[in-house]
Amino acid sequence: MRHSFRFDGHLHIPADKLTTALGSALNNNLDFIMLTDYDEIRAFNYLAEKKMDNFDVERVDDQILCVSNAGRQILVGSGEEVKTKEGHLLAWGVSDVVKSGRSLKDTVENILGEGGIVVFPHLYVSSFHGCGERAFLSMVNVYGGGSLALEVNGQIPDCLNANAKSKSLGKFTNCAVFGGSDIHGAYGTEACKVGFRTYSVVQGDLQNAVESLRDVVKRYYGVEVVDMPNTLVETLAWNARSLLKSPVKKIKSIF
Ligand SMILES: [Zn+2]
Repeated sequence: MRHSFRFDGHLHIPADKLTTALGSALNNNLDFIMLTDYDEIRAFNYLAEKKMDNFDVERVDDQILCVSNAGRQILVGSGEEVKTKEGHLLAWGVSDVVKSGRSLKDTVENILGEGGIVVFPHLYVSSFHGCGERAFLSMVNVYGGGSLALEVNGQIPDCLNANAKSKSLGKFTNCAVFGGSDIHGAYGTEACKVGFRTYSVVQGDLQNAVESLRDVVKRYYGVEVVDMPNTLVETLAWNARSLLKSPVKKIKSIF
């Protein structure tokens, strides 16, 4: 029996790119992905309604679907990227939409209260709406290290050092650090990169996938980041639209 699985917990995939994204995830041997729409659980619900021609979809429980094609299968989890007043959070394993626009504290309380998992993505990159170190530490003070997780983000090139800082902060605060690709499938050929960008190898049982993630957060070990970040050019290329809106602010905030 296998005791680990390959997991990407940060994906923005619109319904019309699900076929490409799932095909890529299967080809690259991911075992489990979490769809994390902004303020919605749209792509997961679309899949759950079995609207895909080329994939069989079975519901495992409220938060997990098993998607298969030609004898291969992958689990798909229900997640969300929630916009709080202080920055963005990932909510894993939530069945209802977590409302955006509230304080970080109220949002964290809401996600944990629903049995969800709270992950702080791209913490140090304000142009990606990371919450920042101070906000994160204030939540660690309230909830403790084994309740929250951090992320090494595949859209942040190594040269920026922000992922290295998240890793150190995880060690310092006893918080698990997951790898997530943050692929935005709507842009260009990004959906083809699922499984070919940063992901996590999680120690645990795939049969109880969300529980295994929860255990890793509690123990703050048992996850290894497979770091395959974009180059700066790749990230800026798909970000070009927002970059054009406020170039100086955006580039400054990355550095
Ligand atoms: Zn994201």
